[in-house]
Amino acid sequence: MQKKQELYAGKAKSVFLTDDADRLVLHFRNDTTAFDGEKKAQLERKGAINNRFNAFIMTRLAEHGIETHFEKLLGPNESVVKRLTMFPVECVVRNIAAGSICKRLGIQEGIDLNPPTFEFFLKNDALHDPMINEYHIRAFGWAADAEVARMKELTFKVNDVLKRLFMAAGLLLVDYKLEFGAFHGRVLLGDEFTPDGCRLWDSNTRKKLDKDRFRQGLGGVVEAYEEVAQRLGVDLSGI
Ligand code: ADP
Ligand code: UDP
Repeated sequence: MQKKQELYAGKAKSVFLTDDADRLVLHFRNDTTAFDGEKKAQLERKGAINNRFNAFIMTRLAEHGIETHFEKLLGPNESVVKRLTMFPVECVVRNIAAGSICKRLGIQEGIDLNPPTFEFFLKNDALHDPMINEYHIRAFGWAADAEVARMKELTFKVNDVLKRLFMAAGLLLVDYKLEFGAFHGRVLLGDEFTPDGCRLWDSNTRKKLDKDRFRQGLGGVVEAYEEVAQRLGVDLSGI
């Protein structure tokens, strides 16, 4: 398989075509952004850590029957993935209140959400990713009803698998964002699962070990990602 021209450069990853119409190369960059791209930085080694982290999580999810786009690691910052037709929505599950839900609903950070909540957001930086619901997805044709149902089902299944996985590593999975796409009629998990797109707290101290360290200027961002990776047993050799 040969890497071809860049298809798209997002805020943190670049996507390359390949000589296989069904495969892409995903390149994890060191670029880190917050607040819809307003705050930006280059964080040394973040891209390579996230590439390995994502490969590890996607592999664990596949072992539990969740179909993902991940195929294999290609280089320090790159993975081969299936080319999906992405749905322009983000699926967010929250186990503990943090981030936007606290502001939106005036809720104190750290409160347990039992049962967990599910939210859809429209992927649109210019509009600051507004919250939407299933009626908007249906009215604007962003996904079919069966695809919406599948995204929700898979997002909750990911929660069952990952809450346990992180718990065993002494970590609380506070919340996370997933993106899905269609591949030959099936709904697959796409994009990434890394500390850039979820919140992880130490179970005992509740120390933040995710992108909130960057958002809130707490420092030690890459060190936190590395600590989480090491606790999970992600292979970081050579990076
Ligand atoms: P953003 O677009 O939010 O700035 P990234 O920098 O992470 O985000 O860019 C990656 C882009 O690639 C996202 O738009 C994401 O939806 C898209 N993408 C992720 N996985 C796939 C895939 N398997 N097939 C096609 N597009 C994908
Ligand atoms: N998230 C993300 N990309 C987005 C918006 C949110 O990865 O464009 C993740 C975020 O890291 C967190 C979860 O989704 O783990 C919920 O985010 P929230 O709605 O609280 O928004 P925030 O205040 O983090 O922007």
